[in-house]
Amino acid sequence: MGKIICIGRNYADHAKELGNETPKEPVIFMKPDSAILQKGMPFFIPSFSQNIQYECELIVRINRLGKRIEPQFAHKYYKEIGLGIDFTARDVQTRLKEQRLPWEIAKGFDGSAVIGKWFNKKEFNLNDLAFTLHKNETLVQQGNTKDMIFNLDHLISHISQYFTLKIGDIIYTGTPAGVGKVEVNDVLTGHINNQLAFEIKCK
Ligand code: ZN
Repeated sequence: MGKIICIGRNYADHAKELGNETPKEPVIFMKPDSAILQKGMPFFIPSFSQNIQYECELIVRINRLGKRIEPQFAHKYYKEIGLGIDFTARDVQTRLKEQRLPWEIAKGFDGSAVIGKWFNKKEFNLNDLAFTLHKNETLVQQGNTKDMIFNLDHLISHISQYFTLKIGDIIYTGTPAGVGKVEVNDVLTGHINNQLAFEIKCK
């Protein structure tokens, strides 16, 4: 399994809901590979936080080694896309941000990276691709790639200026508005273009 690179504030409506400015360049952070929620496992809400929130995001799997990739060639570095959840300990993150400390533990804890089913990108129009998250059958998040501040190719190009991208690396491309808290027994269901990508039970 490769590294997990996440983008923050890639949708203006979500940046606004957390009181953040719209960024001039992508905000990047990482999760360790131990953050990946193993297939078929429930998500166990960790006891160190009182406010674990879901962030449903389009994800991309890198299938070719690359560094300093030009945006016009970025499409050659991935074949599959999917949907995931970037679970966030919001209370921990807020506290660390206020103290101007790194917020790794709020984002990179065990199970915090949900990876759904992979789809061939050719199935979709990547410039106008809708995805949704339902919590207990209620629609809570609705996104579309056309509302991204930085598109997939721009993100791959930008990330690869700093980090060599390797086969198997996964990029979380940011979340739209509607993030919220999870409780024990919540069921989170993600769809891309009305196709089921994941169903996760919280424990
Ligand atoms: Zn996120």
